[in-house]
Amino acid sequence: MTKMPTTGRTAPRLEASRADAFSESVIREMTRLAIKHKAINLAQGFPDFPCPDELKKAACDAVNADINQYAITWGAQELREALAAKVSRYNHMEFDPVTEITVTCGSTEAMMASMLALITPGDEVIVPEPFYENYGPDAIISGAIPKFVPIADNAPMEEERWKEAFSEQTRAIIINTPNNPTGKVFSLEELRFIADLCIDHDVIAVTDEIYEHILYDGRKHISIGSLPGMEDRTITIGSFSKTYSVTGWRVGYTLACQALSVRIRKIHDFLTVGAPAPLQAACAVALSLPDSYYRSLGKLYESKRQKLFQGLSEAGFKCHLPEGAYYIFTEISDFGMSDIEFATYLVEKGGIAAVPGSSFYSGGGADRLRFTFSKKDETLEEACRRLRELDIQD
Ligand code: GLN
Repeated sequence: MTKMPTTGRTAPRLEASRADAFSESVIREMTRLAIKHKAINLAQGFPDFPCPDELKKAACDAVNADINQYAITWGAQELREALAAKVSRYNHMEFDPVTEITVTCGSTEAMMASMLALITPGDEVIVPEPFYENYGPDAIISGAIPKFVPIADNAPMEEERWKEAFSEQTRAIIINTPNNPTGKVFSLEELRFIADLCIDHDVIAVTDEIYEHILYDGRKHISIGSLPGMEDRTITIGSFSKTYSVTGWRVGYTLACQALSVRIRKIHDFLTVGAPAPLQAACAVALSLPDSYYRSLGKLYESKRQKLFQGLSEAGFKCHLPEGAYYIFTEISDFGMSDIEFATYLVEKGGIAAVPGSSFYSGGGADRLRFTFSKKDETLEEACRRLRELDIQD
């Protein structure tokens, strides 16, 4: 008798892989839940308002001009040149666009490529905590052992804890200023302190500066890479996503000395080949916007910060005004629910999505929720109305 062909699906044998060592992104999951429950998404940090018209036009023009094939793997030459000029002016750092600037698929790829370029599995990487969710999996994927140091939202750094975190095995430290989720903006003194530790211990600083233009109360952005002695031991990561409200374009970049950039570029090439070519052309146009654009962006977010802060405070949340970025990291211990319980309740019953605090910690954070105010005024007003109506205070 002939054997019947197998028609059923068979499960392949799956061994444990690095993907088993971390969970799905909670931030992105909250967006899916917001859509499912038709809730207002104050979870994932992206605008619900349009990007500048000049950028839309530049993107359409680029597609119509047939800029639809691969850009140079390191990024379109004109974009790297425009970035070199911007970084010199705004960040006070000089980079050669030919060898030291690499355009990536968002700052997400920039961080991953940087870590993969730096890390020998087993190296330690210092991660200030709380931290943007991605840094945890980035460390695991690259084989690094994360060492966490605490940062307080509103208080000075605990210098002794930072000193203790540096060891013979430390290869890199991840800096994120303005900080997600706390809103902390590192001061010059703090950055100097970190820079000295990096120099003393021969450590590379990988600095995520995606919120560099979103600062409040007259604060100024400082890039740790611009401090003396840090020029060749810093990888600075930037992006167009937040500054120009184009998070879906996926265009970011790394700035690093040639020796580091050579490694980053190899990893970047084999990870993605390159960022979207027509959108790179449009990003070069974005960099020609006048200074008034950045001032308006700051003002816009300053008023949104106030709106959400007031709404949260009136609803009984303990919070403080962030110094930069566009999140409010609230305390929820008074409400008698964990962050996960509260976030679940909020998205299912309250019509608002927020991010559970624990996703920003290696352990802990169950007494925190993060809300973004990167939304239209009417979105924030409706969210505040819903927050006031919640029946949760005990
Ligand atoms: N940085 C944004 C946040 O923290 C969004 C990041 C993302 O999902 N890529 O919400």
